[in-house]
Amino acid sequence: MLKLPGSLSLFRKLVLASVAAGLLPMILGFSMSYISQRDTLRKTMGSAFRVLARETGVKLGLLIHDLLDRATDLARSDRLAEATTGANRRSEGPTMDRRAVDLLEAFRLRSPLQYHLIILTDREGRVIGASPRQSAGRQSYRGEMEWEAAFDGGKGKPFVGDITWDPVLSAYTLNMAVPVRRNGEMAGVLLLIHTVDRLFKSVTDVHIGRTDHTMLASSDGSLLFCPIFQIKNHTLAKSLSQEIFKKEDGWSTTRADVHYPGREAINGFSQVRLKIDDLSPKSLGGRRWAIFTSQDPKETYEPLRSLLGWTALSAGMGVLILVVLAILAIRTIVRPITLLQTKAHEIIQGIRALPMDRRKVVTPHGAPEMNIDTGDEVKDLAEAFSEMVGTLESSRRLLTETTRRLEEMAITDELTGLYNRRYMMEELKAEFSRSMRFGLPLSCLAIDLDFFKEVNDRCGHLAGDEVLRQISDLFHENFREPDILARIGGEEFLVILPQTDIRGALAKGELLRGQVERHAFTIDHGETIRLTISIGAAAYPDERIHNTDHLLKVTDDALYRSKETGRNRVSRG
Ligand code: GH3
Ligand code: MG
Ligand code: MG
Repeated sequence: MLKLPGSLSLFRKLVLASVAAGLLPMILGFSMSYISQRDTLRKTMGSAFRVLARETGVKLGLLIHDLLDRATDLARSDRLAEATTGANRRSEGPTMDRRAVDLLEAFRLRSPLQYHLIILTDREGRVIGASPRQSAGRQSYRGEMEWEAAFDGGKGKPFVGDITWDPVLSAYTLNMAVPVRRNGEMAGVLLLIHTVDRLFKSVTDVHIGRTDHTMLASSDGSLLFCPIFQIKNHTLAKSLSQEIFKKEDGWSTTRADVHYPGREAINGFSQVRLKIDDLSPKSLGGRRWAIFTSQDPKETYEPLRSLLGWTALSAGMGVLILVVLAILAIRTIVRPITLLQTKAHEIIQGIRALPMDRRKVVTPHGAPEMNIDTGDEVKDLAEAFSEMVGTLESSRRLLTETTRRLEEMAITDELTGLYNRRYMMEELKAEFSRSMRFGLPLSCLAIDLDFFKEVNDRCGHLAGDEVLRQISDLFHENFREPDILARIGGEEFLVILPQTDIRGALAKGELLRGQVERHAFTIDHGETIRLTISIGAAAYPDERIHNTDHLLKVTDDALYRSKETGRNRVSRG
C-alpha cells in the first residue's frame, strides 16, 4: 500500500482542510477590509488636516494683516509723526520722547498680550520711544535687519520679519517694522515685536482630536512655531519639508519628525498667503511660510486599531467556532467510517483465527453487526459492506464445509465409511514413530474375508457390497477410540492397535473372528448368509520389524498363513 510520508488520519486531514478553507477567505476579507479602511481613514484625516491647516493659514494671514493695519494706523497718526519729527530735530543727547512713549504705551495696552515691545526710532535709527519703556534695550536700531528693510533708504515699505529666536527673551518673536512718514517724508520707523507664542496660539485654537498640532514652517526647512514645545532652531526632515512646500494645499503621509519621530503620520498643509499690498520684498526673509497639521499617529490610526482588534477578536471567535463545528461535523462523517474500519479488522482477525488443523472442528464465525444509519453515502457503504461481509461469511462457511467434506472424503473409504488405505498408511507411520520414541507397543491386524468371491458369484455384486458394509459396522463396534480401522483393498481390512502388544492383538483378532463367525449377514429379501474371516497379527517391538513396511509384511505373512492353514483363524506373525 502506498503510504505518503507524514500521513495524517482522515479526521485530521478533514479538520485541517475545513479550517484552511474557512480561514483563507476570512484572512483575505480581513486584509482587504483593513487595506480599504486604512485608505479611507488616511483620506478622511488628510483632508481634515488640510482644511485645518488652510483655515489656520488664512487666520494667520488675517492676523498679520490686522497687526500691520493697526501699526500702519499708528504710524500714520499725526501725533506720532509729530513726536518723531520733533525728536528728529534734536540731533544730540537723550532721544527718548515723552509723547512718543505715552502714545506707544497706550497703543500696547490696548492689546497687552500681543506685543512684547514697541519701539519708535527716528530716521537715523535712534530710539525715541519704547513700550515698555525700560525694555528698549538699545539706543539705536540702525543696521538691524527689520529697521533697514522698513527704512530702505527713505523709501521703505511695511516689513514682516521672519520669526526668530530671541536669546534675551528665550522665546520666538515675530518682528514687524512700519515706516513713519510726515508729509510724505520718511520720519522714522515703528518696530513692533510680537510674542509668537501668544499670537500663534490665538490662530491654532481649533483641534480635530486630542493630539493634533498646527505648526508653522519656513520654506528653508526651519520650524518656526510649534505650539507645545519651544523647539529652537529645528530643521524639518527633508521629505516632510518638500511635501508641505508644494504649491497646492494638500496632505501626505510622511514620517513624523517633530513630535513622534520615526512614526508614520498624516500631515495636512497649506501655504500662508499674505495679501498685503506694497509689502517689503524682504518680508519673511524672502521665504515662504506654510502651516502644517500633524496628529499623534497613534490617535490617527486609533479607529483602525480598534477595528483591527475587533476584527481579530471576531476572526478568532470565528476560527474557534469553525474548528468546533468542523470537529463535530467531521466526527459525524468519520465515526461510521472508523466503525467500518474496526469491523473490517474484526473480520480479518476472525478469518486469521480460523483453525488450520483439518482435524479440528471449524465453528461458524458470525458476521459482526453493522448498525450505521447516517442516512447518506456512508450508510449505503455500510450496507454494501454488511452485504459483502454476509456473502463472504456464507462463502467462507461453504468453503469450510466443502473443505471438511473433501478432507473427509480424502481419508474415507466410500463404500464402508472406514478409513482408506492412504490415511491408514499415514497414521501407521505416525503411530510407529511415536511407539519407537516412547518405547510403546504397536500391533496390526490384517483381515481378509474367506471365499468372498463366492458370495459375489452366488448373490451378486450388490449383495457383496452390502455384506462389506455390514461387516465394517461389526468391526467398528468392536474397536476402541484410538484403534484405526481401514479398508485397504476389495475385501481386505487393516486395524492399527496403538499401545497394544501381540497378545492383546491376538485376543482382539480372536474376538473378532468369533463375532463374524456367529453373525448372520442379511442380504436381499431377508435372506442371510454366513461368513468367516482370516486374520494375521504382528506387533512392534519385534526384531524383524524396524519400519512400517516390516510391520505390514509380517502382518501379511501371518494372514497368508491363516489362509494356508485352513482359514477362519488368527495367526501370529
Ligand atoms: P480367499 O480370500 O478365501 O482365498 O477367497 P476369495 O474368494 O475371497 O479370494 P480373492 O481374494 O481372490 O477374491 C476376492 C474377491 O472379492 C474378488 C471380488 O469378487 C470380491 N471383491 C473384491 N472387492 C469387492 C467389492 O468392492 N465388492 C464386492 N461385491 N466384491 C468385491
Ligand atoms: Mg482377498
Ligand atoms: Mg478373500
